[in-house]
Amino acid sequence: MRWGILGGGTAGPAAALFLARAGHDVVLYERVEDPQPVGAGILLQPTGLAVLRRLGLLQRVLGRGERIDRLSGHTASGRMVLDLAYGDLREGLHGLGIHRGALFSALWDAVKGEPRVTLCTGHTVTAIDETPDGAVLSGLRGHDGEGELWRSEPFDRVVVAAGARSSLRPPGASVKPYPWGALWFVAHQNPLPGVLAQRFRDTRQMVGILPSGEGSVSVFWSLRADALPAWCAAGIDAWKREVAALMPEVPIDAVRSADDVIFAPYFDVVSPTWHHGRTVWLGDAGHAMSPQLGQGANLALQDAAALADAPDLATYSRARSDQVRFYSFASRALTPFFQSSWPILAPARDLVAGPLHAWGWYRRQMVASLVGVKTGFFTEMGVPE
Ligand SMILES: Cc1cc2nc3c(=O)[nH]c(=O)nc-3n(C[C@H](O)[C@H](O)[C@H](O)COP(=O)(O)OP(=O)(O)OC[C@H]3O[C@@H](n4cnc5c(N)ncnc54)[C@H](O)[C@@H]3O)c2cc1C
Repeated sequence: MRWGILGGGTAGPAAALFLARAGHDVVLYERVEDPQPVGAGILLQPTGLAVLRRLGLLQRVLGRGERIDRLSGHTASGRMVLDLAYGDLREGLHGLGIHRGALFSALWDAVKGEPRVTLCTGHTVTAIDETPDGAVLSGLRGHDGEGELWRSEPFDRVVVAAGARSSLRPPGASVKPYPWGALWFVAHQNPLPGVLAQRFRDTRQMVGILPSGEGSVSVFWSLRADALPAWCAAGIDAWKREVAALMPEVPIDAVRSADDVIFAPYFDVVSPTWHHGRTVWLGDAGHAMSPQLGQGANLALQDAAALADAPDLATYSRARSDQVRFYSFASRALTPFFQSSWPILAPARDLVAGPLHAWGWYRRQMVASLVGVKTGFFTEMGVPE
């Protein structure tokens, strides 16, 4: 079949690789003219790593990232809020902290070497028209959609993998920006190897250090989107003092000016289904969520693998439903306890954390959620090898 794919981030290139290797012809449209390996660190879970193994890219990403064995979180006064070890689910299990750019390079280089994939960069897709001959994509050339109009040949199937800000959504999807997002920066030193460590001051301040490979870390700081202008106005030194006060381990000297720090908003996208006609939605375009559980890129990779395994698009939607809905709900439910304007939630969170962590069943459920294998409150899929 002829497949058209919109988006060259995570889900798009992964789907292109699976489909091309299964014998399909693929045209991948990416709006950026010359995509570069940029972005903060992300945490790849065993579920996402298993998909990369299927694509033959595991060794490459393992070489660029850092093994993460534990997730820890403490209040400013040192009280434990989170302490989860991958090894509690199965010995030897681990996550991988990696720069999004390193993951992108691995996928993009593989796609470039795939003879059945044609890359069309600098093409923004703005419409999908169902015609009797197939789905026809059209749009404007150039990143900002300022260039001339183009129209594709008809495709048998179309994959929308255009990310959280996609202008093309599944029918009936609800799209809401979260009030909170994160500031992040990269530092080339690693004070806490092997651990994703976070520190909280009630629910209104959160800082985290994610080791991201090659001796670097990504540091993120929770911020309300509408507080960004005030953050800019207050000056970078005031913020650096605030970060150092909450978590002295943060290598804050890596920040010299506000230009070293980037704000990333979050979106919540919920959809009743992920296919319509000849079109299927993968990754954030169909189910963006807060990154509190570190699952977005992993779900995007699993979407690509599930699409390759499904005989038709309706089967794909059904196959993805349980896991995606669980993480979508869990991210929405948990985020206010860590990032919100409701500090009243913090004392309850801090009070129950100790007893809950001591309860084996709860602890196992939390680690399984982190690993990415939950498909419901009492159900899960197999832990990847
Ligand atoms: C601060 C932050 C931290 C995160 N941390 C984690 C983490 O630790 N672990 C994790 O798994 N996930 C994390 N995520 C989520 C993860 O980054 C996303 O879920 C993942 O990148 C989604 O991949 P995608 O392929 O769906 O979209 P993207 O990677 O966003 O790719 C979309 C692509 O489509 C292109 N595009 C957009 N519109 C068009 C168009 N009209 N035509 C053509 N091309 C188009 C874009 O240029 C882009 O290249 C985090 C997200 C944020 C914001």
